[in-house]
Amino acid sequence: NKQVIFRDYITGFPKETDMVLTTRTIKLKVPDGSKAVLVKNLYLSCDPYMRGCMTKKLDGPNYIPSFIPGSPIRGRGMAKVLDSDHPNFKEGELVWGMTCWEEYSLITMPDGLIKIKDTDVPLSYYIGLLGMPGLTAYVGFYELCSPKKGEIVFISAASGAVGQLVGQFAKIMGCYVVGSAGSKEKVDLLKNKFGFDAAFNYKEEHDLDAALKRYFPEGIDIYFENVGGKMLDAVLLNMRNLGRISVCGMISQYNLQKSEGVHNLFCLITKQVRMEGFLVGNYFHLLPKYYDFVMPLIKEGKITYVEDTIEGLDNAPGALIGLFTGSNVGKQVVVVAHE
Ligand code: NDP
Repeated sequence: NKQVIFRDYITGFPKETDMVLTTRTIKLKVPDGSKAVLVKNLYLSCDPYMRGCMTKKLDGPNYIPSFIPGSPIRGRGMAKVLDSDHPNFKEGELVWGMTCWEEYSLITMPDGLIKIKDTDVPLSYYIGLLGMPGLTAYVGFYELCSPKKGEIVFISAASGAVGQLVGQFAKIMGCYVVGSAGSKEKVDLLKNKFGFDAAFNYKEEHDLDAALKRYFPEGIDIYFENVGGKMLDAVLLNMRNLGRISVCGMISQYNLQKSEGVHNLFCLITKQVRMEGFLVGNYFHLLPKYYDFVMPLIKEGKITYVEDTIEGLDNAPGALIGLFTGSNVGKQVVVVAHE
């Protein structure tokens, strides 16, 4: 069983050498009476929150436990059941949920695994568009922002796993949508593939406030926050009265020892803006509602999803690190096996 092992807790930017490839022999059989499920991992997801799991967390409100040094990286994946001692799962079924970065995983508490019913879509979608990032985009935009037709929406890290969907949902809603991303290729995708009204490369803007004033002469009604730091500060200055900010993530802060100060929070009061953070893990009860909404859109070709697919567990550490340099174009997927 080829595995990607977490070496030890880190500070600063993660490196490939923080993860080590090994091979261990395992039995491809679930122990009797264990209620466990043995799966063959097909697709593994690289997600920004995994950086937080590489830090040793002290007691406190941590939303996801740290990785265990010497154990495989834990993350979401899409897999096929090979053997099961659990009444809810049968051999041959397809599932998605928490698994490990290895070819085969013995899942001892499989209740969190979600069975895949729709198989006439690309199965990798269950770690992206139809998985945690998709639900994140849906919840963060519709549930938190109460969008209305004609509103002005700004999305940062807009070409990524979550951002590309928020932009398309906002267009379907009849909003005016602008996104920021870190390369020309991504900006072109936003405008030409995802239908954003405008997009810009934030790395080329020395003055983010001036850039936002250029793209939003009338201000922003809804900001879908993925990056934090300087971008959030500049956005606060450009929000309209009664605007909403959905705080999904702050990736620009994840590798810093001390987060950057945000200076313009007073705008929340003067402009009566509502800024709200959320954890998608607390919204999984909305997954059926999300599927009812998004499945028809996928099948009618009204939603598109760009994935950045790499082959092989060997390349998984590099792909995870790439999220923090922006090397991924779209949802970062690791293919472990094709069925
Ligand atoms: P992406 O697919 O968007 O990948 C991460 C992207 O972030 C990179 O491609 C890069 O794009 C951008 N980025 C990296 N470093 C920086 C930086 N210093 N400044 C600005 N942008 C940067 O990831 P996801 O779509 O999976 O996640 C997007 C956000 O949503 C993250 O903040 C994540 O933590 C959060 N999230 C939150 C959830 C929740 O429950 N609240 C659930 C899921 C995700 P670029 O080239 O454009 O810079």
